[in-house]
Amino acid sequence: MFEVKEFPDFSWSLTRHKVVLDCQRKYGYDYYVSHNGWLKYNVAPIAQHAYRLKKLQHLPMFFGKIVHELIEETIKEIMYTHTLPSANSLVERARKMLNDAYITSKYQYDTWAAKPNKHNMFFDIYYHGELDKEAVSVYQGRLASIFENFLNSHTVQELMTKGQQLDIKPPEQFRFIMIDDVKVFLVMDLLYQDVETGQWVIVDWKTGKSSEADRQQLALYAYYLQEKMDVPLEDILVRNEYLLANNHVETTLELFDIENLLYIFTQSTQYMKQFQADVLTNEPYELEAFAQTEFVEKCDKCNYKEICLK
Ligand code: SF4
Repeated sequence: MFEVKEFPDFSWSLTRHKVVLDCQRKYGYDYYVSHNGWLKYNVAPIAQHAYRLKKLQHLPMFFGKIVHELIEETIKEIMYTHTLPSANSLVERARKMLNDAYITSKYQYDTWAAKPNKHNMFFDIYYHGELDKEAVSVYQGRLASIFENFLNSHTVQELMTKGQQLDIKPPEQFRFIMIDDVKVFLVMDLLYQDVETGQWVIVDWKTGKSSEADRQQLALYAYYLQEKMDVPLEDILVRNEYLLANNHVETTLELFDIENLLYIFTQSTQYMKQFQADVLTNEPYELEAFAQTEFVEKCDKCNYKEICLK
């Protein structure tokens, strides 16, 4: 049965790590104030308010989210029917998802506010009443090439040509790992094993530019395979598919990558623990203990600005 807890469990993820480095106050809203904000009754109004704000969608993130959803569905189609949809049909479905989100954002505030985890609200519409038309046109213009590049990607070509030789693992199986008694969340896009060679392949689809954090993310996935499935590092190939640039980067990782990841994890969790008034319950200190960023230009694009900047 679903248990209502006064305080959230302490956990870690690379996203959480980025947020706390970005702005401590935002971290406070994301991981503490908004806790239980999904409840209808017996919950502080500020928790509900913060939870709704947490769910606001920025267009680039939403674009990435729907592309990932459609890719996940396509991978399932490959797994079960060994067929591929056309790029056009994926573009049409993505357009519909964008349009539906636009309509809810623009005209169905109450529907969204009642269930912000089930419906979408664009940040720009919430705060400014409209999406940036230029940005919309840029993202809509990218859809065709993103899906063409996906269907022609090294990974999809390999899945289609090697067929049964590849054992594709359902991604929902791989959601967390315990490190030093801390639950670490991860979202692996695609994992498969070549049953003839024994090699494992981890794939991460990217709809934006490459960044230094990409390798850390892949290191976390590889660590998962090492720890949970006893796979040696040298048997794991990690691959980023950059759908906008239409290229991929693949490599095997070194022990150094895993040590670096675990170092980041240790430093990051120590840093986060400074906000815990009680390490056992994860009760936080008052919000004032979470400093507001000094880089005020970040606040303009922050979901919490209406409750933070008073
Ligand atoms: S509005 Fe600024 S200070 Fe407040 S949470 Fe957002 S980024 Fe941090």
